[in-house]
Amino acid sequence: MTTTSRYRAAARMIAAIGAVSLAAACSGNGGTTGTTGATGGGGYPDRNITIVVPFSAGGPTDTVTRLIAEPMAAKLGTKVVVQNVEGAGGTVGAGEVSRAEPDGYTVLMHHIGMSTAPALYQDLGYKPLESFQTVGLVTEVPMTVVARKDFAPATLKDLVAHVKANAGKVTLANAGIGAASHLCGLLFQTAAGVKLQEVPYEGTGPALTDLVGGQVDFMCDQTTNTSGQITAGEVKAYAVTTPERVKSMPDLPTTTEAGLPQLQVSVWHGLYVPAGTPQDVVQKLSEALKTALADQKVVDQMAKLGTAPVPAEDATPQAHRTKLEEQLGTWAKVIADAGVKAS
Ligand code: ASP
Repeated sequence: MTTTSRYRAAARMIAAIGAVSLAAACSGNGGTTGTTGATGGGGYPDRNITIVVPFSAGGPTDTVTRLIAEPMAAKLGTKVVVQNVEGAGGTVGAGEVSRAEPDGYTVLMHHIGMSTAPALYQDLGYKPLESFQTVGLVTEVPMTVVARKDFAPATLKDLVAHVKANAGKVTLANAGIGAASHLCGLLFQTAAGVKLQEVPYEGTGPALTDLVGGQVDFMCDQTTNTSGQITAGEVKAYAVTTPERVKSMPDLPTTTEAGLPQLQVSVWHGLYVPAGTPQDVVQKLSEALKTALADQKVVDQMAKLGTAPVPAEDATPQAHRTKLEEQLGTWAKVIADAGVKAS
């Protein structure tokens, strides 16, 4: 199955959800609509660059960002600082970067949530294609279905049976409306035919801490966050949501093998700068991204976390924009059909 057809499958699943009313804090106002970038970043960079992560420290988006920050800094010859601006499924941090100076010193790392938010949030305050300039894709990460260690169900099939029988009691953690964990959780609920009590966090870093601590029952999250705890036996893992197993966790079945083939989703990530950023600055950032993704340490570390860098040709502004356009179209229709809204 290609990436696109996987998303289409996910899209069809969400469309089947029907009217779901969801509440979430919505932030962001006065987003800027930038102009096409001019040239003019000759001396760039001559000071620190900040990459904003729109989720909590220690979570999957944060982890991937910190992995590439160092080799990007080495290539750019400056310091790259990672800053967490969390809230509302990643829309608070994205909004902040959309309003930043378009000078290449404020960069955003975001994921699939960039393409789902416009359909979910009424007053987003930014427009993905107009408020941002794409820099390049970074990675596409499989997700896993994980539960607290002492949660009763032993297999994915058991989990489905258990949540059906205990729908009012089971808690499902996520990182807010539009976060990857939220979308994957919706797919799970659709596949299982249940509506569960969702517990939103500002990122799945703290959600995983609570899962290990037994405060919530289960969640869907990226291997970049869960593989350490799965391998250490600190959480119970049911399946990986991609067609193939993940090399670093060869014993973990796919959702298809575990009897829930409808649950297919993986999470693409990309770097953005505010629209209007000079094109030569965007180019320098994209080159630095490519260098970071080719770094053996990054490749090895990502492999350990169950993922891989995108091919070099995808770490470009154009490939990233094409992906974003395609994904915005897919999710807008799906979410409208499903009637899912953040309010
Ligand atoms: N990426 C995660 C999600 O969408 C959140 C995080 O990075 O903390 O659920």
